[in-house]
Amino acid sequence: MLRAVKIAVIGSGYVGLVAGTCFADSGTTVVCVDRDERKLRALEKGEVPFYEPRLADLVKKNWPDRLTFTNDLPTAIRGAKAVFIAVGTPPQEDGSADLSHVLGVAREVAESAEHDLVLVTKSTVPVGTNERVRQVAQKHTKHKVAVVSNPEFLKEGDAVNDFMKPDRIVVGTEDDDAFEVMSRLYAPFNRQQNRMIRMSPQSAEIVKYASNALLATKISFMNEIARICEVSGGDVEDVRIGMGSDKRIGMHFLYAGLGFGGSCFPKDLRALVNTGNEFGISMRVSEAATHANLIPVKAMIANMEKDLGGLDGKVIALWGLAFKPRTDDVREAPALRLITELKQRGATVRATDPQAMETALEKMKAGGTADVVTLCEKPYQACEGADALVIATEWNEYRNPDLEQLAALLRKKWIFDGRNVLTPAAVAEAGLNYRGIGRPVVLAR
Ligand code: NAD
Repeated sequence: MLRAVKIAVIGSGYVGLVAGTCFADSGTTVVCVDRDERKLRALEKGEVPFYEPRLADLVKKNWPDRLTFTNDLPTAIRGAKAVFIAVGTPPQEDGSADLSHVLGVAREVAESAEHDLVLVTKSTVPVGTNERVRQVAQKHTKHKVAVVSNPEFLKEGDAVNDFMKPDRIVVGTEDDDAFEVMSRLYAPFNRQQNRMIRMSPQSAEIVKYASNALLATKISFMNEIARICEVSGGDVEDVRIGMGSDKRIGMHFLYAGLGFGGSCFPKDLRALVNTGNEFGISMRVSEAATHANLIPVKAMIANMEKDLGGLDGKVIALWGLAFKPRTDDVREAPALRLITELKQRGATVRATDPQAMETALEKMKAGGTADVVTLCEKPYQACEGADALVIATEWNEYRNPDLEQLAALLRKKWIFDGRNVLTPAAVAEAGLNYRGIGRPVVLAR
């Protein structure tokens, strides 16, 4: 009978904290490591420093019995069967992934290792990184370090569920013992049917980028179709259902809107393009998807200028700052790009978001747009004195608003639905003009 396994997870962000907490909840002893003192102080009190549904409860449930936090990597990895690297891989100027954190952690782990271990790359890294991590590890320890690529597919906003009930667990390794360790760790999440897919490290690394690039491309493609709908009188919502009913296409990721954001799609597309360039291959589709993603915000702004008779001096209410619902993540959020464009045209913004006001304020201060934005706790408060409303994130609470109240508040009587969540006829019925993405404009009755 094997004893309970101990692991360490380096990097306690969205991925590391979710993975560490879920492993702990399945009985594994987990030490999460981070170097961000502020984050650690919160975690050491059992508090989660960012918003992710269900996560805070799970942390509280498992901390401090099976789940602990520290900045002391050497102690954390002592006795650990596996060490997961879940640090950031942010984009560099040329779009390539910055691997300095991953390789730095690999070196620190190797230098501190007092026994053989499995080193698992969970961060999203370009093909070839596994080999680089292996070389770094080999150079700095005499112990056996088997390097495994185990990309993470969780979605912010539903991360715990995704981790607990994964569609697939991709494990890239040539090492049978390391695969055994991974199989055991993931067994609690792999009970209904075997979802573990073993492959080479290179393939595993490519799976992650290819998946994100294809999903992002679907969104960009639909946004392009939305433009065709807009100029020709089609309705992209009908087109979406017509297309998605074909089983080969499916309903997922066919929603037109203001474009994709977040820490993954934009960054991973650019990194994939960069990897292609390094191998002398033009990644034309991924490149096009990246460029196309900038168009919806610009198109929305052009429409707003037309509908509102210019934006100079206008006050725009903005519902939603997060790049998608159920997260406080505003990295590359279309709402923030929209604010930049509005500022350039002389408009001011009254913005609200159920979770992302703090993170957005930080980003807006850094980006020089905070001076034109008033943050409002409540959605209707954001509409007070506003000319028009833009919905930029499809939070549930924005889907069925009190339209009569909005009609009374909005001076120019326009709603710009950047996520196609409202029913145009109902908006018009309430005395408001409606413009979605790729849908016919419906004027107030
Ligand atoms: P994050 O920025 O939220 O967290 C990274 C954490 O690592 C931070 O807390 C940082 O302080 C810590 N860190 C950095 N260097 C460190 C070091 N040397 N030692 C200890 N801690 C260190 O990032 P994230 O969103 O969790 O993403 C992590 C990786 O997972 C990235 O490669 C990302 O592309 C990938 N990924 C992210 C998601 C997602 O939805 N966020 C999904 C799948 C994969």
